[in-house]
Amino acid sequence: MKANIERTDKKRVVIVGGGLGGLELAVKLTDADFQVVLVDKNNYHQFPPLIYQVASAGLEPSSISFPFRRLFQGNKDFFFRMATVEGVNTNEKKIITSVGSIHYDYLVLAAGAKTNFFGNKEIEATTLPMKSVSEAMRLRNTILRNLEKAETEEDPKKKQALMNIVVVGGGASGVEIAGAVAEMKKNVIQRDYPDLDASQMHIYLVNAVDRLLSAMDPASSARAERDLKALHVHIRQPQFATEYKDGVLKTSAGLEIPTETVIWVSGICANHIDGLPEDSIGHAGRILTDRFCQVKGLQDVYAIGDQSLVEGDEEYPLGHPQLAQVALQQAKTVAANLQRMQKGEELKPFKYHNLGVMATIGRNHAVAEIAGKKFGGFPAWALWLVVHLRSILGVKNKTFILLNWVWNYINYKQSLRLILKAK
Ligand SMILES: Cc1cc2nc3c(=O)[nH]c(=O)nc-3n(C[C@H](O)[C@H](O)[C@H](O)COP(=O)(O)OP(=O)(O)OC[C@H]3O[C@@H](n4cnc5c(N)ncnc54)[C@H](O)[C@@H]3O)c2cc1C
Repeated sequence: MKANIERTDKKRVVIVGGGLGGLELAVKLTDADFQVVLVDKNNYHQFPPLIYQVASAGLEPSSISFPFRRLFQGNKDFFFRMATVEGVNTNEKKIITSVGSIHYDYLVLAAGAKTNFFGNKEIEATTLPMKSVSEAMRLRNTILRNLEKAETEEDPKKKQALMNIVVVGGGASGVEIAGAVAEMKKNVIQRDYPDLDASQMHIYLVNAVDRLLSAMDPASSARAERDLKALHVHIRQPQFATEYKDGVLKTSAGLEIPTETVIWVSGICANHIDGLPEDSIGHAGRILTDRFCQVKGLQDVYAIGDQSLVEGDEEYPLGHPQLAQVALQQAKTVAANLQRMQKGEELKPFKYHNLGVMATIGRNHAVAEIAGKKFGGFPAWALWLVVHLRSILGVKNKTFILLNWVWNYINYKQSLRLILKAK
């Protein structure tokens, strides 16, 4: 198979992954003097910070996804190939993909990360991750289908297991999906499922460490905990999930929760690409780079975003956090340096500017840490909405999301609670 891309006299930059980092890089290079080849296993870009809203039936999947081909229409130096990248041959300067090999002059790895099941194959096979739009759709279908089943289940134990939802992981994703499902319980269940007793729907949040949002300040953790408890989420910490079998989730503290829905958001590890030197792979599979995002021990190969870890930044000795801003800023650094290289100018190292961190906890509640200030409640929630609305790609998506949010805020009468299965 051939990837079918003509060589021109321009240097070719191949970007693996069109997520937040890869897409930003491609956009920044469109007017530069390069041929750009973007390879992604999907034909669309997705916006992970709003995935939990798709999973909880608050947004359409198409509102947070954007087809790559639409974005670069009419750009003759840009090529998109939908393919899974399996490996790299650095001697021959080519990547190996499901549609054949593609040669590069410069390669940028931006394939992100995947859910970490910590080697537990049983948990991987039975729980529900929430890392992509398609996983969010599976989660939405499972929650809705289990509620439908609960309506007609006569055995009280089975009915309870269908109504219990367990979220494993107390980071931002865990807090956000627990809050969203708790809002669903509060505002939707009684109306949509009048034959179910909404008070019997129990949402558990199992967290391995002793506070939620452990990457944030303890004050934000305490606030998130308080807000989730107000939504009747049962927080169980510090304890970790040890087993999920026969519809029962067990934890290290001996807790046994009967449930048909376990949402697994307890960590990530970098996506693997074959053919990189062994000593360029660090903790949780992250590809080690220098301050210019160049992969350790390699020439003309860069790695950015969740898949990478920049070494040598004294402020971040363990690497930068795996967040959107890091991926976006690294993409800008690499784009600028590739252009400087062409002009023979001096390269500039990556320097992370922390613009702040936020997490929402249901309606009207959020925590934020911005420019040394920590705050929560409605102001943080409103800011969260604005920041995410601004970041989403496309006017249509922005409009749809805003309309959905306003409609949802007023009456919760969404028509998104459909169980849609592809045949
Ligand atoms: C549910 C969720 C919520 C989040 N919320 C926030 C938040 O509120 N704020 C924040 O700052 N960060 C948040 N993050 C983290 C943020 O989304 C990531 O840090 C960011 O997306 C990293 O960008 P990236 O380009 O490295 O990877 P990604 O954006 O994950 O993109 C990776 C791309 O690579 C493609 N890909 C993967 N493997 C292959 C392969 N083998 N071949 C071809 N293509 C491949 C994927 O399809 C994808 O398009 C969240 C993440 C998740 C999952």
